[in-house]
Amino acid sequence: MDKGRQRRLGCAVILLLVLLGIVLGVMSCRRGRQTTETAEIGGEPVMTHATVTLTTNAHTTAVTTVTETAATAAPTAATTAAATAPSETAPAVTAAPATSPATAPPTQAPTAPPETAASTAASTDPPTEALTDPPAPASDEGWELTLVNSTHPLPESFDIELTQLKGDVSVDSRIYPDLQAMFDDMRAQGVYPFVREGFRTRAYQQEIMDQRRNEYIAQGYSEETADSMARDYVAEPGTSEHELGLAVDINAATGSESWQVYDWLAANAYKYGFILRYPEDKTDITGINYEPWHYRYVGKKAAAEIYESGLTLEEYLGE
Ligand code: ZN
Repeated sequence: MDKGRQRRLGCAVILLLVLLGIVLGVMSCRRGRQTTETAEIGGEPVMTHATVTLTTNAHTTAVTTVTETAATAAPTAATTAAATAPSETAPAVTAAPATSPATAPPTQAPTAPPETAASTAASTDPPTEALTDPPAPASDEGWELTLVNSTHPLPESFDIELTQLKGDVSVDSRIYPDLQAMFDDMRAQGVYPFVREGFRTRAYQQEIMDQRRNEYIAQGYSEETADSMARDYVAEPGTSEHELGLAVDINAATGSESWQVYDWLAANAYKYGFILRYPEDKTDITGINYEPWHYRYVGKKAAAEIYESGLTLEEYLGE
């Protein structure tokens, strides 16, 4: 073999090694990224952030996604996937433990029973002056203490900035940081929650009502009776706290029992600004049955005072 040929052969070998190195490098790089994505989807980053301008009223709902950024340290790919296909990539809204990200389909989540309306003879008092003003995000002081119940309905239309969570659930963006902190701490203590219900449009609330009424009609009840029965279980559209975006129904995800989540929340939620809105012994005041899953954001100061005093939001606000 002459020297020229040896050199050419040497060059070819080096070139091959370099190519092999590049291929191996790319492969390991990909593997690394896949591992990260899987861990992120099943693990800590629970919520994606989407700034949404939304106008609610009984007939139209305009949703415009303005921006979409990761609120936590999730990689872009995972965030995008979660935001575009929440039902596929984020089965349990928030909370599947990292070891079993794909084993928590929504159907396994405990079903929160429907809310009970105050009574069929709900008063139709007009909203108070404070409530007729739309809750403006920046300037509206005291927004977190807005009272919504059967006698304090929401205005017909208002704007709200929403943060979208995994699982096609969203909440008022102002409560998101405390909600995330609460979930982080709960999980750190081995309790796995997820948000089953958050913000509802009035149209959606009406849909829930209609669905319930139609079920009774299908069972053979007259339209009038079905209507009345539905009102016993579903809050009248315009009077559900969920339309405010400040209420969340929190259930147990895979890895936890309902009572574990409810107990943890009952003992700790106030530290994050959330109160048990419909306590067991206060149904005559709230007009709503005991709901251990329904938490309402009122801010940390009010939440601590309400927790210490045992008052309802109605009593606390002197309503
Ligand atoms: Zn609720």
